[in-house]
Order: sequence, then structure tokens, then C-alpha cells
Amino acid sequence: MVRGEGSGSAMNPSDVESGGDDALASIPVAISARHVHLTVATVAKLFGAGHALKVHAPLAQPGQFAAEETVTLVGPRGRIEQVRVVGPERSADQVEISRSDEYVLGVEAPIRESGQLAGTPGVRIEGPAGAVALEQGVICAQRHIHMSPADAEVLGLADGDTVEVAVSGHERRLVFGDVLVRVAPDFHMELHLDTDEGNAAGLHPGEDGLLLTPTALRARVLAAAPGS
Ligand SMILES: [Zn+2]
Repeated sequence: MVRGEGSGSAMNPSDVESGGDDALASIPVAISARHVHLTVATVAKLFGAGHALKVHAPLAQPGQFAAEETVTLVGPRGRIEQVRVVGPERSADQVEISRSDEYVLGVEAPIRESGQLAGTPGVRIEGPAGAVALEQGVICAQRHIHMSPADAEVLGLADGDTVEVAVSGHERRLVFGDVLVRVAPDFHMELHLDTDEGNAAGLHPGEDGLLLTPTALRARVLAAAPGS
């Protein structure tokens, strides 16, 4: 959890919960369901030339939105329908799925930070106007926390750090290690987990969690927002 110390933390959630009045940091958590990011060219192939993605619901990260459009993923073992497109369009196609989804599709995707797609497997994507066979771009997103430089400074963290986050769910208390800290000026503080991770912790809106940073600050998981 601590920079340069590997995973050997002596602290456990009980220690921190009973530890008194540490500084309190609010960390909303969003559960990211499977989704795809698409290039302008791929949107045209799947939905028709000149098609523009329509906003279904804005996401917490500024400018990002769940689109009305959905696609079907087709792997060697199976297919998954109604997979949400997340806009706006990007410079590379990227498919983010859970481990459970990988078994359904028959695709083995590595744990990767968004955008790091070299050596990742591809998948077939079907839309209402056509299909594309991606040569790469399928990842299982590394769990991460978005935050602004100001948030990072308060928490004593820097971009690229990894922390542990303890979540107190319904009898499924769990400490997530290897949580990547991502800092950018337009980021809004939010912990992103996938559906497998959220389910493993029994996450529901309004539950407490602890962000175990190098300074062991306390955090509260405010809400679990499905579908982002
Ligand atoms: Zn994210």
C-alpha cells in the first residue's frame, strides 16, 4: 500500500475503524459495468456513417457519458449483448470487461490501466449497421481512484501510487490492494471498481469504506453507482 513497501501492511480495517479521529476523506465509489470506448471510425461502422453518439446519462468524470448506443460483444465461446458505449469518441477502441465476462466470451484479457492496450486481445463488436473485428483493445480495468491534484495533495498521494481500500459491505468486508491512483486536473474524486469487485465486497450505496493511504487517512464510500 505504501509507496515502495509492497503489500506488507500491518494495518487492518478494525484497527483504523477504532482508531479515533483521523482526517476524514469522502471517496464515492462507482461500479463500472462492462462498456466500450469507440473511435469515430468504429462508431461509423457500427452505427452508420456520420452517426454521433447520443448522451444517455453523464458520468462523474467531466465530459464522459454513458451513450444511448449499445453493442454486442462476440468471443470464441459466447456473446454478450446490450454492452454500453461510453462517450465521447476516443483515439482507440477499448473494451472493458470483468473476469466473469471473460469466461462468457472466451477471451483472456489482462489487467490494464485505461489506454495501455499493447498486446491485449481483440473481440468482435456488432452494432445495428455493421460489425468490426478488433485486433486488440480488450482489458480488465485495473481498479483505480480518480482525483484532482488538490485531492491528491490532501491525501498525500501522487499519480501512479497504489493504495489499499477497505470496504465494509454486508458481511463481506474486503481490502482491495493494487488500487491505482490517477491524478489529473479534470478528474473528480471517485473509486472505480468493476462489477466482480463490487459484488465480491457486497457493495451497496452509502456504505463505509476506508482508504488506506500512506498516511492512513480514513475514507467513506458514499455511493455505488451501477452502470458507469
Ligand atoms: Zn475510471
